[in-house]
Amino acid sequence: QCILVCPTGALAERDETETVIDFLDDPDVITVFQFAPALRVGFGEEFGLPPGTNVEGHIITALRTLGADVVLDTNFAADLVIMEEGHELLGRLKEGRRPTFTSCCPAWVNFAEKLYPDILPYVSSTKSPQQCFGALAKTYLPEKMGLDPSRLRVISIMPCTAKKDEAQRKMFRQKGVRDVDVVLTTREFARLLKREGIDLAALEPSGFDNPYMSEYSGAGAIFGTTGGVMEAAVRTMYSVVNGRELEHIEVEDLRGFESVRTATIDLGGDIGQVKVAMCHGLKGVRAMVEDVLAGRTDFDFIEVMACPGGCVDGGGHLRSKKHYQPNARKRRDAIYEIDRQTPRRQSHANPQVQRLYKEFLGQPLSHLAEELLHTHYIRRRTEIKRTINDIWREITMST
Ligand code: SF4
Repeated sequence: QCILVCPTGALAERDETETVIDFLDDPDVITVFQFAPALRVGFGEEFGLPPGTNVEGHIITALRTLGADVVLDTNFAADLVIMEEGHELLGRLKEGRRPTFTSCCPAWVNFAEKLYPDILPYVSSTKSPQQCFGALAKTYLPEKMGLDPSRLRVISIMPCTAKKDEAQRKMFRQKGVRDVDVVLTTREFARLLKREGIDLAALEPSGFDNPYMSEYSGAGAIFGTTGGVMEAAVRTMYSVVNGRELEHIEVEDLRGFESVRTATIDLGGDIGQVKVAMCHGLKGVRAMVEDVLAGRTDFDFIEVMACPGGCVDGGGHLRSKKHYQPNARKRRDAIYEIDRQTPRRQSHANPQVQRLYKEFLGQPLSHLAEELLHTHYIRRRTEIKRTINDIWREITMST
């Protein structure tokens, strides 16, 4: 098996294309695919298209050509994350608990669990879009589509090696069954298509046709770039607090490539002004965490992305040091263009998200939403110490 090292240093990439082929070939398996917000603007480069080309429709056609049974979108789950995380944050603000860190980047969560476990109470309990999607794909989707959940296998395509580790963790299982069965990185998905003789660039684009988990708002789309989660959350929190939409929904102060960016936003109502920050790249993240633990900051909400540039330049994408900035910029610009072109730009306006709450979850932070879409974190520093001690004991006993 092929193993590549994650550029964020988070973990190794194990090639799982064979597992996906086995699922596709097995007549008893129903394959459910999801792909990340950033994938559609970075994947075309693997097939010679210019950086930032939106190949969403090509990816859908490619998956159907491969034999996928159901093709859905992680962007839908990004909207859902905003509903849960936004309500969670408003609740914490009312209780005077600040700051709250985002939790959708698993490399950041790993980093916090292993190196700064004292920060864990400040990390949002909302699962990442990948895991929220998986939890619903194994519960809500079979109920709506009349499918046998035991035959479903959820396959993610992500620009991220850390998502592989995330999908395997015990807290992301329901009664022992994984929410997400396999994660392919952008590179692996490209290898799979090339091996099957599918040229992405030559395909006719097609659209999603599933009425449950494929529609997304502009807010869900901008999850793929740094500052996007925060901007999406602000759009929905403002609406929840004021009962009307924010007038200027593009939060320019949060856009850009600086490793730490901050903004003060008036959410109105009983919340008032909030101070928000976003940081990406582990150097900036470390400094932010140490400042929070030392009481040197007064932020209310902090978005963290481990990869410099965020998921548009994630560790699973095609990467080039020489072209890093220009390519990442073009991918980011394409994501903002998707946001501008999308008819609805707020997560709470997504009709499929509204339907999910009406027909299944009830409301954000309901008992069922907590069970399926929220998690807890583990202080893993002690686990590492124990492992090192175990290894040392084995070495000393064998000499
Ligand atoms: Fe994965 Fe990097 Fe995005 Fe974090 S920032 S979710 S490690 S691609």
